[in-house]
Amino acid sequence: MENPKTSCSGENLKSVSSWVKDQIKQEEIDKYMYDGHDFIDDAKIKRMIEEKKDVSKERLRDILAKAHDINLMDDEDVAYLVNIKDPDMRAEVFKAAEEIKNKVYDNRIVTFAPLYLSSKCVNGCKYCGFRADNGKQVRRVLTQAEVEAETHVLASKIGHKRLVIVFGEHPESAVDYIADTMKTVYSVHDKVRNGVGEIRRVNVNAAPMSIGDLRKLYNSGIGTFQVFQETYDHEIYRQMHPENTLKGNYRWRLYALHRAMEAGIDDVAIGCLFGLADWRFDVMGMVAHARDLEKHFGLGPHTVSVPRLEPAVGTDFSFIKNWVNDEDFRYIVAVLRVAIPYSGLIVTNREKPEMIKSLIDIITQRDADSRIGVGAYSEAFKNGELVPDFQVSEKEQFELGDTRSLDLIIRELAETEHIVSFCTAGYRCGRTGKKIMNLLKSGQEGCFCKLNAVLTFQEWLDDFASDETRKIGMGVIQKELDAIKARVPQDFTQNIYDSFIKSYENIVAGQRDVYF
Ligand code: SAM
Ligand code: SF4
Repeated sequence: MENPKTSCSGENLKSVSSWVKDQIKQEEIDKYMYDGHDFIDDAKIKRMIEEKKDVSKERLRDILAKAHDINLMDDEDVAYLVNIKDPDMRAEVFKAAEEIKNKVYDNRIVTFAPLYLSSKCVNGCKYCGFRADNGKQVRRVLTQAEVEAETHVLASKIGHKRLVIVFGEHPESAVDYIADTMKTVYSVHDKVRNGVGEIRRVNVNAAPMSIGDLRKLYNSGIGTFQVFQETYDHEIYRQMHPENTLKGNYRWRLYALHRAMEAGIDDVAIGCLFGLADWRFDVMGMVAHARDLEKHFGLGPHTVSVPRLEPAVGTDFSFIKNWVNDEDFRYIVAVLRVAIPYSGLIVTNREKPEMIKSLIDIITQRDADSRIGVGAYSEAFKNGELVPDFQVSEKEQFELGDTRSLDLIIRELAETEHIVSFCTAGYRCGRTGKKIMNLLKSGQEGCFCKLNAVLTFQEWLDDFASDETRKIGMGVIQKELDAIKARVPQDFTQNIYDSFIKSYENIVAGQRDVYF
């Protein structure tokens, strides 16, 4: 009998290719299209960028004033914004971005960690260290025992409550594996100092899936489903993603989050890999994506991510023509804040500490203490200690810019009076999707979020903080407690305030996972 063909890593190529053939359901693309077109009209976007070059200060102020109503910006206004080069006018956009962040999200920052589960991938994205033909990449798919080991480090040694789990696209890491992984992560509850080390929200960054597969993730307790379009420019997308691969299908990816919404996952996350195409085009593409989600489901993205291209092992970047410099990158983040004002905004440790610090009053989430090698948290945990800065580049997708510990990052944030929120109450008590968006737009979610931020931050300080971080963090808590008291009865009824104080005292006494 003839042996089945195998790749150099021993894979059965026939079974991989028949799995690939089975993935895309054309009818789940067609149902969202308009007369055979998707919602990205390249020619129209390019024309608008060409035409909307000169914006007066008055018009700019008009545009920014509208953004304060916390509604999605229209295309014409976004086109004006992306064309601005004048430093003073950009500074006005930056200031509006900070005001909007403050209005919707206050001084809260959410922290999370990425957990890479698999580096096997059937695709050939030219910029990614995991692409199938990269011989320099060490391939690995974690077993459930290894997932558990990684989670122990993340939940008990570092103190994270929120993860984004990340996968290459491969039959060995397909939907059932992802669902099992979530189950394993949620099953870890470790005794730590005064309380418990556990992950309370698992977000997923994985390849586009069918509605049926997405329902499985919904039923497994997924937090947010993230799929980054990489670039909205059809032609550049085609050049970056070989056509004979799964990821080569632009529209299967473009409608991934529509399918997620249809499957019941109403917290979805858009993103774009800045550096591939003209960033002005991609910012307009992201806003168009948010608009089409609103059109179909009455709800935009829960978060927006802005990964910027980073060097990757075994990857030659000489073909990249659109690197984004630091000044433009900062401006991109500010424009997205005002253009999609209701969404959370995530900048990751791909960026250097100074860059993230300069954006901290615009963004809502950042990661901390991240290791992006597959299995890297366990490998970095040696002799009862987490080795600082431990990374394993041949097992990583790209290189990190900020490898500092969660404790240090929280201390830095507390020094500038930001409160780190470990709150995961939203999706666990049904405040997701439209419910949370309406609360955010009206400013009411901020009230709940502030109370939960104080409760969860106190919990973290008691269970994980170093002495120095705890001291500075307690200063922030005291200020917040005073500020909350001063908001009775305008923002909080006496009853809510009394019940909050009781919960706070319970946390200090050792009760855990209390939320409003
Ligand atoms: N494989 C899935 C996919 O492509 O959607 C999910 C995980 S992929 C590992 C996560 C994201 O990493 C990609 O969507 C891409 O935006 C980003 N990425 C890939 N290569 C990168 C690089 N060289 N620098 C920065 N980000 C990169
Ligand atoms: Fe695979 Fe995702 Fe990397 Fe593309 S970006 S090669 S799909 S892991």
